[in-house]
Amino acid sequence: LGCGLLELVKNVDLSASNTLGLAARAQSVLCIDNDASLAAVCEAVRGHGVQRVLGGGSNVVLAAELPGVTVQVQTRGVQLLTQSAQARVVQAQAGECWHDFVQYCLAQGWPGLENLALIPGTVGAAPVQNIGAYGVELAQRFHSLVAWDLQAGRVVEMGLQDCQFAYRDSVFKRAAPGRWLIVAVRFCLPVRWQPVLDYPDLQRYVDLQGVASDAVEAQDVFDAVCAIRRSKLPDPAVLPNAGSFFKNPVVTREQYLYLARTWPDLPAHAQAGGFYKLAAGWLVEQAGWKGKRVGAVGMHERQALVLVNHGGATANQVLALAAQVQASVQQRFGVLLEQEPVVFS
Ligand SMILES: Cc1cc2nc3c(=O)[nH]c(=O)nc-3n(C[C@H](O)[C@H](O)[C@H](O)COP(=O)(O)OP(=O)(O)OC[C@H]3O[C@@H](n4cnc5c(N)ncnc54)[C@H](O)[C@@H]3O)c2cc1C
Repeated sequence: LGCGLLELVKNVDLSASNTLGLAARAQSVLCIDNDASLAAVCEAVRGHGVQRVLGGGSNVVLAAELPGVTVQVQTRGVQLLTQSAQARVVQAQAGECWHDFVQYCLAQGWPGLENLALIPGTVGAAPVQNIGAYGVELAQRFHSLVAWDLQAGRVVEMGLQDCQFAYRDSVFKRAAPGRWLIVAVRFCLPVRWQPVLDYPDLQRYVDLQGVASDAVEAQDVFDAVCAIRRSKLPDPAVLPNAGSFFKNPVVTREQYLYLARTWPDLPAHAQAGGFYKLAAGWLVEQAGWKGKRVGAVGMHERQALVLVNHGGATANQVLALAAQVQASVQQRFGVLLEQEPVVFS
């Protein structure tokens, strides 16, 4: 957006700032960079009221007109805070690009985040939905974060318990939008690193490269994750999308067994507490949505879980299609799909 420190820019076009490519205008945008202070930001927003915080826009559905103030965090910097025999604590500023940060850590010889490579967006947004992929969730590598509580006007440090991480969820996603501005995130990266290759695709890829199991390095995992993601997921720069549009539903053992009697192929992973996580993509595909197009929007032809904008879509069209998909999955399987991206209006 190119706006300066604490400058409130009016009437900002956000169509290039969301990966779904929705045409959207913010009434005003406040950019926060490294020199911004909490006091100055609180002062600046007091009169206007922060309505929302926007990162890279890769997990949001934007309405055409966004009233009030939209805050964008553009702080930069990565620092090794401490190192012991067990772990390194690395801090990254919220405006850092997530994938670049993962790559930077690897280049420094600080492995641990490689399974989360190529997830779009910023470091500051990563705790919001506890990003996860290929067998690792942010919570497993989380140390703490620094946030500005814009309601109370103070700096807060939040640990693992405070963040209430759950599957694609946290206190930030559940609480009032714009209350906490995450300014820096600290990660706890293992010094005695072990590859996480639980995900069958990942193990297969590494095997195909001819790497012996005991010689797998973090760079191999990183390369595998990037290659698999590039082959599977549509690139938002080519076909605008927000990644998985629905979370994988978690059901009780009884419900899983009941469904599996009718659909023995139903993919499911046993969870703690006797629950089962079902593959939302499979449910959407079985309900007949794979590759289906409704006007300007549709479900991707290879990844049924990814809702795409074929060009000129609006938030209403996106949400209408999502509701149709939810209704048909509910009707067929009795399972409610929960939407993953956040709606800003
Ligand atoms: C192609 C594609 C693939 C994806 N794959 C994955 C995946 O594998 N796993 C996964 O978990 N997600 C995935 N996602 C979703 C998305 O990349 C993540 O949710 C990411 O963390 C969003 O980052 P962002 O900066 O774009 O956040 P935005 O979309 O801008 O915002 C998302 C939410 O975070 C809040 N937020 C953003 N920055 C801050 C901040 N500094 N302080 C407080 N709140 C903030 C916003 O208010 C909003 O509620 C994918 C998305 C795409 C497009």
